[in-house]
Amino acid sequence: MAETAKEYDVVIIGGGPAGLAAGLYAARGRRRTVLLEKGVVGGQISLTDIVENYPGVPSVNGFDLAQTMLKQAESYGLESEYVPVSALERAGKRWRVRTGAGELLAKAVIVTTGADYNRLGVPGEERLTGRGVSYCATCDAAFFKGQEVAVVGGGDAALEEGLFTTRFAGKVTVIHRRDALRASRILQERAFANPKMHFLWNTVVEEVLGEEFVTGLRLRNVVTGAEDVMPVAAVFVFIGHHPNADFLRGLAAMDGGGHALVDDWMATDVPGLFAAGDVRQNSARQVASSVGDGVTAAIAADHYISASFPD
Ligand code: NAP
Repeated sequence: MAETAKEYDVVIIGGGPAGLAAGLYAARGRRRTVLLEKGVVGGQISLTDIVENYPGVPSVNGFDLAQTMLKQAESYGLESEYVPVSALERAGKRWRVRTGAGELLAKAVIVTTGADYNRLGVPGEERLTGRGVSYCATCDAAFFKGQEVAVVGGGDAALEEGLFTTRFAGKVTVIHRRDALRASRILQERAFANPKMHFLWNTVVEEVLGEEFVTGLRLRNVVTGAEDVMPVAAVFVFIGHHPNADFLRGLAAMDGGGHALVDDWMATDVPGLFAAGDVRQNSARQVASSVGDGVTAAIAADHYISASFPD
């Protein structure tokens, strides 16, 4: 006999700051709410060593902040399940959410699936991932004590993670494709002042070298065209993110970059479907702004349920 789908008021897909904030507000608003997460709650911040720009919290480990947010939301009745979502579809006025552990029915769905890191797309990168190619310095920097490593990118993530890596590595070279950084001034000041941080400008990675483990990078100067090989034991790649919204394709309107289009209330063009945080167009991509998005979406979902499902 087919198992009956569990029924919820609100299903939240994705457990980053937007999803956790939406979960707190929906559960505290006495809506039966479940948060679905395929990995670890916190999303990108769970891999961030120190978050120091979340107002009211001067400095906190990203993983710890996410765990605190989860416990706070659970104390108001938020349920959480660690399962991947395979499909989302209309079921009359409701939504059917298919997961790795069965089906759920929801009056409203809030998509907070965030974004995933971009890859360089060069030879050697995929083969040597986990063998010196990393997208998480917080996770992997400690393996390279005293060694020379590279960081690719010129944004906040590259500098923040590069600075973290200096705690372990002997030398950290930031490889950037231009001659000016995109990162915030305060991180630039810290990076330039750190004697272990070095910079290679106007340079791109053409290939990650190594048999079993990374041994170096083949580089090209984009101004002169000159090629060079730089010996390193690891390369940390921080070249931006792309939204995780594939399952929204064909369901809701999206922009060319794959972000969900939403109004001021985080509502998509489909009734009862909301998107918040990095997955939506024009997100400021900060913990604080994602939290605000999640709160807005939960309040909008609450109003939507009251109007569309009168008792
Ligand atoms: P980002 O700001 O988009 O920066 C990506 C960097 O990678 C840019 O410097 C870009 O170069 C470079 N890049 C992009 N594609 C490349 C490629 N194919 N090859 C080589 N370089 C490439 O991404 P992010 O640093 O991950 O930050 C994402 C968001 O999170 C931002 O809004 C950021 O402010 C936020 N964030 C904040 C903090 C913090 O406040 N402490 C920490 C981490 C992240 P160009 O500059 O030439 O485009």
